[in-house]
Amino acid sequence: MSLDSKIPQGPLAEKWSKHKFNLKLVNPANKRKYNVIVVGTGLAGASAAASLAELGYNVTAFCFQDSPRRAHSIAAQGGINAAKNYRNDGDSVYRLFYDTIKGGDYRAREANVYRLAEVSVNIIDQCVAQGVPFAREYGGLLDNRSFGGAQVSRTFYARGQTGQQLLLGAFSALNRQIHEGKVKMYTRTEMLDVVVADGQAKGIITRNLKTGAIETHAGHAVLLATGGYSNVFFLSTNAIGSNVTAAWRAHKRGAFFANPCYTQIHPTCIPVSGEHQSKLTLMSESLRNDGRVWAPKTVEIAQKLRKGEIKIDQIKEEDRDYFLERKYPSFGNLVPRDVASRNAKEVADEGRGVGSSGLAVYLDFAESISRLGEDTVRAKYGNLFDMYYQITDENPYKQPMRIYPAVHYTMGGLWVDYNLSTNIQGLYALGEANFSDHGANRLGASALMQGLADGYFVIPYTLGDYLATIGPKPVDTSHPAFAETKKDVEAYIAKLLALKGNKTVVEYHRELGHIIWEYCGMARSEEGLIKARGLIQALKDDFWKNAIVMGENEEINASLERAGRVADFIELGALMVEDALSRRESCGGHFRLESQTEEGEALRDDDNFAYVAAWEYTGDNQPEVLHKEDLVYENVKLTQRSYK
Ligand SMILES: Cc1cc2nc3c(=O)[nH]c(=O)nc-3n(C[C@H](O)[C@H](O)[C@H](O)COP(=O)(O)OP(=O)(O)OC[C@H]3O[C@@H](n4cnc5c(N)ncnc54)[C@H](O)[C@@H]3O)c2cc1C
Repeated sequence: MSLDSKIPQGPLAEKWSKHKFNLKLVNPANKRKYNVIVVGTGLAGASAAASLAELGYNVTAFCFQDSPRRAHSIAAQGGINAAKNYRNDGDSVYRLFYDTIKGGDYRAREANVYRLAEVSVNIIDQCVAQGVPFAREYGGLLDNRSFGGAQVSRTFYARGQTGQQLLLGAFSALNRQIHEGKVKMYTRTEMLDVVVADGQAKGIITRNLKTGAIETHAGHAVLLATGGYSNVFFLSTNAIGSNVTAAWRAHKRGAFFANPCYTQIHPTCIPVSGEHQSKLTLMSESLRNDGRVWAPKTVEIAQKLRKGEIKIDQIKEEDRDYFLERKYPSFGNLVPRDVASRNAKEVADEGRGVGSSGLAVYLDFAESISRLGEDTVRAKYGNLFDMYYQITDENPYKQPMRIYPAVHYTMGGLWVDYNLSTNIQGLYALGEANFSDHGANRLGASALMQGLADGYFVIPYTLGDYLATIGPKPVDTSHPAFAETKKDVEAYIAKLLALKGNKTVVEYHRELGHIIWEYCGMARSEEGLIKARGLIQALKDDFWKNAIVMGENEEINASLERAGRVADFIELGALMVEDALSRRESCGGHFRLESQTEEGEALRDDDNFAYVAAWEYTGDNQPEVLHKEDLVYENVKLTQRSYK
């Protein structure tokens, strides 16, 4: 099967406008004859559901939390990019496009990224109109700060709580539509399968997480805005509940999964403290605007520090290595995440790491506090500093934060074309759940931009084209595909509940996380990946023999919920390893040890790997089939990425 990305013809800057004009429209009176299912009400899903309902469609929306307001999006801290050029520092739509393509190490589609940059400016206006309290300068204008991979200040923010404020905006818009009767909201409801009837997505199967009821829902189209899969690593900065189940079950029904091995390791997280931990905490990238990253210059000093023989403030300035500033003078501490993460790992591998494990470097605010004053620093980052203090019991106003890379975001996801449609007609993927815009590495503050672009500004146009094509004939659950898919779901739940071994699913999850982190994490090699392949297969076999799942279906059952999610993570983990194995180049977050420059930077192989890897499921324990979508660059020149 060939992959048609449906990128419109014509000059880059005109593609989206022309495409919007060419898309079919649904007449306003007909819109109410369509039902659209939106799974996920984080930023991408809530914005889509609210916008589609505002247009007049009937929307049924789902989330597994007790309120859309609790989606993982609420955790986003640092900000959202937009090419407004309020700072007059040389920003433009083209520069945001260029930075994003380069930041993604030339593994994203030009047309998608340009559209993202183009609509970024509308997002800010939309959110301000909703009352999102972005930070303002003294004169009242919206303030900006910088994020990695950019030399301009284009990041709009609301202290360190940008995601929360944006979600409150989207949630308010969604609530308005719930109140109007245009959105029917199902909370505490988990989608467990997608119903494909005659080649088109026509509905979903859900489980009511309070009663266990398995239900069918029909719609003219199904939109998945179900977030990312970082929790495949067990420890990540994502909310504990974030999972891959919706996307994975859609994959098993035929939707291609793209670039699964592209995961983002964020450089500034609170280091792991032990096996007891269930999640990790991010320290926003915005902190790198004012914090300086360093480690002791020598292994000897680092050892003394770790043994408690000296204190941090006894390390003289000349014995501190501000390694990012030293190696990348142009971007300094604001190099992209993949570059900053790899450098921190390198320092720790050399034995110059700090903290009891040696798996940490410092993020130091002493210089900015003396330059700006503690109050200014508190006003910008107060909640982040408090969070750090509460978790570590160390005061970051008085001593540097300890930070280390951790899994944070997944660039891979369901393959979608320019219209955000998967290869299954009528099935769409939005936000972090799709693979679309970030290539092999996402720049900071661009996930919120993409999720809201998809929901507020892209899908409202592109979905109409599909709906107009299929027509408003009523849909219901009478097609046999509904009963068959429901039966499959019930059988799968019964199979999970029959597991009465002696090992909890959390233990399996933790083991999977160790394998993926070790062999498919910050650095990957052919040898390690082949080993991981065997380990994951063994883990999967063991899971289906020895796991224990407690309780019944007809109750609140966290053990059952987790079991289904972990089983999916195990299968996804296996695909991540295959994807990483087949991509014998380094690019962005995918660092193959066999493919690096003399200076240890990621070495791409554009001749052989300038493509999107889209994987097709072929059956349990069967090898997946790789489809390649060639990436064509007409507007940027592919170069070795340099931030020096
Ligand atoms: C700590 C942290 C800080 C971040 N800070 C920033 C930042 O400053 N700037 C930035 O741009 N990005 C940031 N990001 C990334 C960004 O927050 C996410 O990429 C983005 O919020 C994802 O939004 P989403 O709508 O795609 O998914 P989510 O917000 O994850 O929402 C997923 C939705 O899907 C639902 N769902 C999932 N599976 C199912 C199912 N099977 N059935 C029913 N419902 C389901 C959930 O209930 C939820 O409603 C940060 C991420 C983290 C972890």
